[in-house]
Amino acid sequence: MNSYDVAVIGGGPIGAVAARYAAATGARTLLVDQGDGSCEPACCAGLVSPRTLSLLGTSSACLLREIRGAIIHSPTGKQTEILSKKMRAIVLDRGALNRELLKLAAQAGVEVRHHTRAAITGQARLHLSEPSKQREAKARVVIGADGPRSMVASRFSLPSPPTFLAAVQATIVREARASEMVEIFFGAKVAPGFFAWAVPAEQHQLRVGLAATQGTDVNTLLNNLLSQHFPGQVISHVGGIIPIGVAAQTTTDGALIVGDAAGQLKPTSGGGIYTGGVCAKIAGEIAGYASLAEKTTDETLIEYERRWQDKIGKELRFGLLAHRALYSLSDVKIEAGLAIINQPSILQAITEYGDIDYPGMLASSLLSRQDLWPRLLPLIPVVGGWEKLGNLAQFVISSEQPSQDHKPKNSDG
Ligand SMILES: Cc1cc2nc3c(=O)[nH]c(=O)nc-3n(C[C@H](O)[C@H](O)[C@H](O)COP(=O)(O)OP(=O)(O)OC[C@H]3O[C@@H](n4cnc5c(N)ncnc54)[C@H](O)[C@@H]3O)c2cc1C
Repeated sequence: MNSYDVAVIGGGPIGAVAARYAAATGARTLLVDQGDGSCEPACCAGLVSPRTLSLLGTSSACLLREIRGAIIHSPTGKQTEILSKKMRAIVLDRGALNRELLKLAAQAGVEVRHHTRAAITGQARLHLSEPSKQREAKARVVIGADGPRSMVASRFSLPSPPTFLAAVQATIVREARASEMVEIFFGAKVAPGFFAWAVPAEQHQLRVGLAATQGTDVNTLLNNLLSQHFPGQVISHVGGIIPIGVAAQTTTDGALIVGDAAGQLKPTSGGGIYTGGVCAKIAGEIAGYASLAEKTTDETLIEYERRWQDKIGKELRFGLLAHRALYSLSDVKIEAGLAIINQPSILQAITEYGDIDYPGMLASSLLSRQDLWPRLLPLIPVVGGWEKLGNLAQFVISSEQPSQDHKPKNSDG
């Protein structure tokens, strides 16, 4: 039976980063993924902040597009355009990103095994189903990077994220309306409880998808969206789920969870590559050092939870409050809110301060602009009164800014 210091279950972007950071500590690290390592066709729009590539330590080979703004469609079809002079986001080739991350992990010394499904058979014990054989392995620390329905979390009795959205996405052959802009659609008839998107991807291709409250027939909604706005040949069609809210506990004796398994996504947008990446580096390091020191109980591993909470915990909690406030609004209120935002001075402030990784920063910057208060005041009844807004504002005011290594550097953020 092979013994490892750290075993990472799941070779998505977050597992690959966690494994690389574990191996960098000198820990003997195994990474297993049931797929071929490409995650294709990915159930992901691949839209991230430009700083994500440097955070993950990858080249720009997987970069497909630079994005400068968004066209927002209200429930009745009115459009609000937010366009920045600077690049605000990038669109990635998810397959290329994943392959590069796994290559980097292998180069760092990780034993990477594709087409291998892992099961936990006991404390520190794994059963690995490979295409041609079954084998057992031991690991001092198991990292669950196995996605939103984490087997590792359930086997180690760790809680799941509190809620999930149902999601679906099609890649179609069609030119984007504007090649440097994404389109966002709101409304109960389009995507109840969240939003729909169209993201320009490879040449002549668009990723059109939506997420909505669980139980919604997302496939029918996607077909409606495609036929109304984006007729074109469908190349791929994938479904998935998006966790909203972090798991109440992310470590236990001998195991920790990271990425979608831990719900470390931004609740306002459903983006999880940047936030999961921040946590994956910490997860790998802590798991590596803990296993080498043979201190693998929760007492040591909980340092991972302290550190990721310290880095992005507040921002994710703000995101959850904002998610609850925004995505419970009726269509009438969304319409009214977008009409208020659609004023030159507010749009200008959004393009200036907006940061897709740190929506709390936008909120605090807007709050600090007293000249905008009269224009923003009508948002209070829309958002649900002083109580909800007060909660959000309190959070924003008490929030720390992102630490230096995650702060936007000039235009790339
Ligand atoms: C429709 C949609 C669009 C999205 N768009 C964006 C976006 O534009 N930007 C963004 O930042 N985020 C986006 N996300 C979220 C993003 O895709 C995830 O946050 C990200 O993929 C999380 O990575 P992960 O490595 O934690 O999990 P995953 O990518 O889910 O990887 C988990 C891996 O674990 C493997 N696995 C599971 N169980 C086992 C097992 N027992 N044994 C072996 N292997 C196993 C799976 O095969 C998989 O490869 C989107 C999500 C959805 C659903």
